[in-house]
Amino acid sequence: MFNRNMYGFREALPSLPAKFVLVFLALMACPVTAWAAAEQSESVRIGVLAKRGPERCLEKWGPTAEYLTAEIPGYSFAIRPLGHDEVGLAVKRGEVDFILTNPSSYVELERLYGASRIVTLKNLYLGRPYTIYAAAIFRRADRDDIHDLDDLKGKTFMAVDEESFGGWQMAWRELKKHSIDPRRDFSDLRFGGTHDAVVVAVQEGKVDAGTVRADTFERMAMEGKIRLDEFHVIHEQRGADDDLPCKHSTGIYPEWPLAKAARTSDELAEKVAVALEGIPLDSSVAQAARCAGWTIPHNYESVHECLRELRIRPYQDYGKLTGGAVVRRYWPWLAGAAGVLFIAGVISFHVIRLNRKLRQALSQYGNELAERKRTEESLRKSEQLRAESEKLAAVGRLAAGVAHEINNPLTGVLTFSHLVREKEDLDEQAKEDLDLIIHETTRVSEIVQGLLEFARERPAVKEPLDVNDVVRLTIQLLGNQEAFHDVTVTGELEEGLPRVDADMNQIQQVLVNLSLNACEAMHDGGTLTISTSVQDGKVSVTVADTGCGITREHLDQIFEPFFTTKPVGKGTGLGLSVSYGIIRQHGGRLKVESEVGRGTTFTMVLPSTER
Ligand code: ADP
Ligand code: MG
Repeated sequence: MFNRNMYGFREALPSLPAKFVLVFLALMACPVTAWAAAEQSESVRIGVLAKRGPERCLEKWGPTAEYLTAEIPGYSFAIRPLGHDEVGLAVKRGEVDFILTNPSSYVELERLYGASRIVTLKNLYLGRPYTIYAAAIFRRADRDDIHDLDDLKGKTFMAVDEESFGGWQMAWRELKKHSIDPRRDFSDLRFGGTHDAVVVAVQEGKVDAGTVRADTFERMAMEGKIRLDEFHVIHEQRGADDDLPCKHSTGIYPEWPLAKAARTSDELAEKVAVALEGIPLDSSVAQAARCAGWTIPHNYESVHECLRELRIRPYQDYGKLTGGAVVRRYWPWLAGAAGVLFIAGVISFHVIRLNRKLRQALSQYGNELAERKRTEESLRKSEQLRAESEKLAAVGRLAAGVAHEINNPLTGVLTFSHLVREKEDLDEQAKEDLDLIIHETTRVSEIVQGLLEFARERPAVKEPLDVNDVVRLTIQLLGNQEAFHDVTVTGELEEGLPRVDADMNQIQQVLVNLSLNACEAMHDGGTLTISTSVQDGKVSVTVADTGCGITREHLDQIFEPFFTTKPVGKGTGLGLSVSYGIIRQHGGRLKVESEVGRGTTFTMVLPSTER
């Protein structure tokens, strides 16, 4: 059963002021030895997490300090009680040489300030030593509405302290493992300050449930404060290798460690460890500390794990990557990536610039190429034209020469033929033969006239002319012709045309040529329309028929001299080439549009002298 002496010892221990009086009296009694001892000894401070206040802390651990002072010559050990929020600062500032604190506080000191455990506490439980402990999540025995962790949702809950490992963090981890977020899922979460206060709050029904170190109930029961059957531990754990004898709801963790500060010498730490491990179970020192002494340091990895899972100090940022942490952690990669990006940027910039230059060069080259093609084309055309016109000029000169030579004898032949024909004594046969001679000779004469026209033997005699007058005259002339019997000739004249500088006879000759062709294209009759209009200061005259039309391949040839589709003896092929020459001589143009089967329209455009 529980060792009653352990708690009875408390009453026997002198209170703090009394202790000072005793020490003072001892110093007075033998001043020399005390002085000598004080001068030699180096003071060593042991910081202790005082979970129940500084007084209880000194009561509990004062004897241990005295024990160490006595065991280790040359050193004087003193206890410094520290609150939860003072522990870290005291270690950081080097105000303590050793620190005795709970496991979660220890792993934080280990991580932040390089503290290292030298021994682990052996807790005394039911007369036996334990180096492990756990927490209980409990309710009052009569609250049968709470069976497991899930039933805690919506209930009020009390724990010891946010920084308490056995009095809160162990249970929190277990709750989190079962997807219960205390702050969200409990209707209220309070902290009682001490383990006893939590037990009392549940006992009095001030909260629905709570958590404390699992051995709290037995201790309080021993102290006569509670009865064990008043409480029920929920979510009870029974692991295979879990030999903790009291009911508990969480995993097991190593007991409190005593750690040395980073700068404390190994030599001193070794001495302290050896001395502490040598404390006998039944010594007054052990009894004051309510422990079973100390053992070799345990592994605190499970505590690290717990804090990591809870994401609390020193792992508050664990798993979260803040901007700064990312930069610190991955800066070589980030720098590399930035470098690669920069190089890629520079390269693409250059590529883009090169591309643009290339495009510009290409389009310039394309433009030059097109320009050159145009130049070559126009050169080729102008050469072709020159050759053409030289050829035409040569043909013209030849024709003119031949025409002259033929014209004189022909005139003689015609004149004499007419004279002979007038004679009375000719017989019928001779008359017929002469008529034939005259007819054929007249035809030859006409061809010669055409040749002379083509060779532009007759220079134009230009004068200001109203084209409408010429058109009216021509229509009148055509109306009297036998050939135009089946053709309706109409004029559509725009009044007030500007005058053109032209040779009236030549313009009339063109109109007659175009009209005769039109008439010959309308074998079965049709309509011939001659119209005039003015456009951009130029006078245009169109001769349109409803005849057979001109095929596409003939369109390219009709202006050539001697081109004709008419039977031998009918056409000379000179009408259009002569007309073309005349219009060109007037600085105008002659165009044709035709559709086979529907008709043809010739348009001559003459520049006007008026503005
Ligand atoms: P010709 O009338 O002696 O044949 P032209 O130089 O006057 O010579 O005409 C050349 C050719 O153009 C004609 O043979 C004919 O094929 C074609 N032509 C000219 N005008 C017309 C027209 N209005 N309709 C159809 N064909 C035409
Ligand atoms: Mg003709």
